[in-house]
Amino acid sequence: MDFGFDAQTEDYRKRLLAFMDEHVYPAEAGYHSGDGWGPPPILETLKAAAKSAGLWNLFLPGEHGAGLTNLQYAPLAEITGRSPAIAPAALNCAAPDTGNMEVLAEFGTDEQKRQWLTPLLDGTIRSAFAMTEPQVASSDATNIGTRIERDGDEYVINGRKFYITGAMNPNCRIFIVMGKTDPDAARHVQQSQVLVPRDTPGLTVERGMTVFGYTDGDHGGHAELIFDNVRVPVSNLIGEEGGGFAISQARLGPGRIHHCMRLIGMAERALELMCTRALSRTPFGKPLAEQGVVQDWIAESRVRIEQARLLVLKAAWLMDTVGNKGAHTEIQAIKIIVPSTVEWIVDKAIQAHGAAGTSQDTPLAALWVAARTLRLADGPDEVHKRSLARRELNRYRSTT
Ligand SMILES: Cc1cc2nc3c(=O)[nH]c(=O)nc-3n(C[C@H](O)[C@H](O)[C@H](O)COP(=O)(O)OP(=O)(O)OC[C@H]3O[C@@H](n4cnc5c(N)ncnc54)[C@H](O)[C@@H]3O)c2cc1C
Repeated sequence: MDFGFDAQTEDYRKRLLAFMDEHVYPAEAGYHSGDGWGPPPILETLKAAAKSAGLWNLFLPGEHGAGLTNLQYAPLAEITGRSPAIAPAALNCAAPDTGNMEVLAEFGTDEQKRQWLTPLLDGTIRSAFAMTEPQVASSDATNIGTRIERDGDEYVINGRKFYITGAMNPNCRIFIVMGKTDPDAARHVQQSQVLVPRDTPGLTVERGMTVFGYTDGDHGGHAELIFDNVRVPVSNLIGEEGGGFAISQARLGPGRIHHCMRLIGMAERALELMCTRALSRTPFGKPLAEQGVVQDWIAESRVRIEQARLLVLKAAWLMDTVGNKGAHTEIQAIKIIVPSTVEWIVDKAIQAHGAAGTSQDTPLAALWVAARTLRLADGPDEVHKRSLARRELNRYRSTT
C-alpha cells in the first residue's frame, strides 16, 4: 500500500496550491454576493486564470477531461474544498455541472454532446439537475411525479421542482429534468431524463430557495421551477426511455465522492482557523490553546479528518479499480460519515472563535452551512444508512 502522491498528482497539487494563494484566497473577502442570486463577476477572471494554468476539468476522467483517476483527483478536490464557493467553480469542477457533464459524456448522443457538453467543458455555460419535488418525499426518487409524455416527435413536461442548484444563475442554460414517462412500468423504469433549455416556453423559474436564510448565490442559487406543458424534441431524451433512474444512480457516485473530497478540505481549513485562534485568544489569563477542552477539540478534529480522508481515498481507489458499482458501500459510507464529521469540526472551530465564528469575517459560517446541507443533498444520511444496512444484512439472509 502506497500513501504517497504520484508525480503527476504532486505536480497538480503544487500548481493548485499556488493558484489558491495567488487567486482564490485574495478573492474571498469581496466574493460573497450577499443577497444576490448569481456568482460575482470576478469568477470569470478566476476561470480564465485557472484555464491558462492548466487547472481545468480536473474531475473528469477519460478523453473529455484532464484524464485523472479518482485517486489522483481526491487530493486536488480537497484543496479546492478549502474555499468551496470559489475554487471548484473557478476550475470548472463545481456541482451540479460536474455530474451533468459526466452524464452527457457517458449517455449523451453526439448532437447532445456538441450542443451542451462542449460549452459546459469550456465553462461558457452552467447547468442544473432537476429531480427533487416539493410535494413528494424525494429522497425516494421513485416518488417523483413530474410527467414526461410523448406527443409525436416531442415530449411534454408538467411538474414542479425545488432546490434546483444553480437555477437562479442566468447563465445556467440547460436543465437535466427527471420525470415519469411510464407510471405503469416497474418502479425503477418509470423514469426518464430529458434536456430542457432554459428559454423553453412553459418553464418558469418561480422563486429562489434560500439555505438557512442565505441565497447561496455564490453557487448560482437554488430555485423552484414550474414546468407547464414544456415541449422538447424527443431527441432531447438522455439514454433510453425508462433509463432515468439508472442514470441518476450512475451520476450520484462520483458526485457524492467529490463532495466528500471537498469536505475534507473544509475541515482542514476549519481546524487551521481553530488552532490559530486558540493560540491568539486569551480568556481568563491563558491562551485558549492551553485549555484541555480546546485541545480535545483539536485532537479529535485531527483524528476524525485522518479517518475520513482514508475512507474517501479507499472509495476513490475502489472506483478506479473495481468501478463505481463495486465501490457502492464505501461511497455510501463516506456520504454518511464525512458531512457529519466535518459539521462537528466546523462547529468546534466556530465555538473557539466566539461571536466572530458566526460572522462574515471568517469562512466558518459558510463552511458549516455547506457541511450541514450535505447531510441532505444527494440523499439524506438516513437513506444511505438504510441502504447500506440492507446490503450488509443481505450477506447473512441466506444463512438464517
Ligand atoms: C442545498 C441543497 C441543494 C440541493 N440541490 C438539489 C439539486 O440540484 N437537484 C435536486 O434535484 N435536488 C436538490 N436538493 C434536494 C435534495 O436532494 C433533497 O432534499 C433530498 O434528496 C431529500 O429529499 P426531500 O427534501 O424531499 O426529503 P424527504 O424525502 O421528504 O425526507 C425528509 C427526511 O426524512 C428522513 N428520511 C427519509 N427516508 C428515511 C428513512 N428510510 N428512514 C429514516 N428517515 C428517513 C430524512 O431525515 C430526510 O431528511 C438539494 C437540497 C439542498 C438542501
